[in-house]
Amino acid sequence: MPLDASDLSQLIALCRAQIERHCEHLGRLDSAIGDGDHGTNMQRGLEAVYGERAEIASLPLPAALERMGLVLVMTIGGAAGPLYGTLLMELGRALAEDDGRADFAGSLARAIAAVARRGRSGPGDKTLLDVLYPVQAEIARHSAPDRIAACARTAAQATEMMLARRGRASYLGARSVGHEDPGASSCALLAMTICQYFQEHTPS
Ligand code: ADP
Ligand code: MG
Repeated sequence: MPLDASDLSQLIALCRAQIERHCEHLGRLDSAIGDGDHGTNMQRGLEAVYGERAEIASLPLPAALERMGLVLVMTIGGAAGPLYGTLLMELGRALAEDDGRADFAGSLARAIAAVARRGRSGPGDKTLLDVLYPVQAEIARHSAPDRIAACARTAAQATEMMLARRGRASYLGARSVGHEDPGASSCALLAMTICQYFQEHTPS
């Protein structure tokens, strides 16, 4: 589905509302294995993107993604800011270089690889990457949006049993097991919001 300015503006508004709704929940998850600020960090970031949504939505998609990434780096802070920022900035760059091949899954894979380099992290480390990898795999398989959304939620839930090897949660060692990772949770919430939009707006 081609994404126009109105789609992008609505998606930004929906993502902002979703994070707002789950801000406390994300904070509680982060209190259990981190410092409790993930909800407010994400809320600050999404609020800033929402404030700029008219300008952002007027840009071509690659430039819009790069701009959103920059705004998120500047506003989320913490560990998650540079990681979400890298994801969107690199996705924008990869799509710009895609040269009309429309290989969204390939561009997303490149952006996720950049996040992994930035965080020095990989699969199974109990981070947002544990949602990004399986979501990318579903997209590469051309799965329907509701299937991708379900995959994102399952993937976030699966971080509960993982031992954190990166970020603040890793300081807890074995005590990090038994709690869902806050970054994986916010990532799944955003992925589910985007998928629901596509589900509702894709002609059947
Ligand atoms: P901080 O940990 O600085 O307080 P946040 O609470 O906003 O930042 O974000 C925490 C989330 O960031 C974690 O739940 C995890 O998903 C993600 N994260 C932290 N460090 C890394 C890393 N090195 N690589 C990938 N993700 C990370
Ligand atoms: Mg935190």
